[in-house]
Amino acid sequence: MGRLIFILAVIAVVYLLLRSYSRQQSPKQDAPAQSEEMVRCVHCGVHFPRSEGILAGGNFYCCDEHRREHEAK
Ligand SMILES: [Zn+2]
Repeated sequence: MGRLIFILAVIAVVYLLLRSYSRQQSPKQDAPAQSEEMVRCVHCGVHFPRSEGILAGGNFYCCDEHRREHEAK
């Protein structure tokens, strides 16, 4: 009887460890999209996530076309 309780306890501990491990992993995957900094295109003024834009000369652009148009001026 004591051995069965010990096995159940080991299974419970392993289960809890695996669950806490997967909980630690998932927020890291979700966080960048939710808390990503929003920047503004200096050419057209549209807001977009920083990773989707283009950084050139300290300015953010929503697309490469706007970067070229803005720099041509
Ligand atoms: Zn733009």
